[in-house]
Amino acid sequence: MAYVIVSTCENCGECVDACPTESIYNTKNNAAWPTHYINPDTCIDCGACAAVCPTESIYYEDDVPVEHEADIEKNEAFYVEGPGADLI
Ligand code: SF4
Ligand code: SF4
Repeated sequence: MAYVIVSTCENCGECVDACPTESIYNTKNNAAWPTHYINPDTCIDCGACAAVCPTESIYYEDDVPVEHEADIEKNEAFYVEGPGADLI
């Protein structure tokens, strides 16, 4: 389990600074990966990122709204097949 960033993220970066495990990255100017994403392999479920997000775009995996369920796989994919694979 992990926390998940959904598509309403506006890339403010607050969550990056709050994360104690450096589990959050984004890409700049990449339309295929437009938001920040959480690495599910390193997230320790502390919730610090969700507490600071001004757009309420971060949820515990089990609490992700149904309209954003595709973002669960999107976060993981960023680190497996997306640009995040080169960042960790
Ligand atoms: S829940 Fe904690 S460890 Fe996981 S991404 Fe958010 S701040 Fe980082
Ligand atoms: S704090 Fe929220 S809006 Fe800001 S980058 Fe993180 S997920 Fe996106």
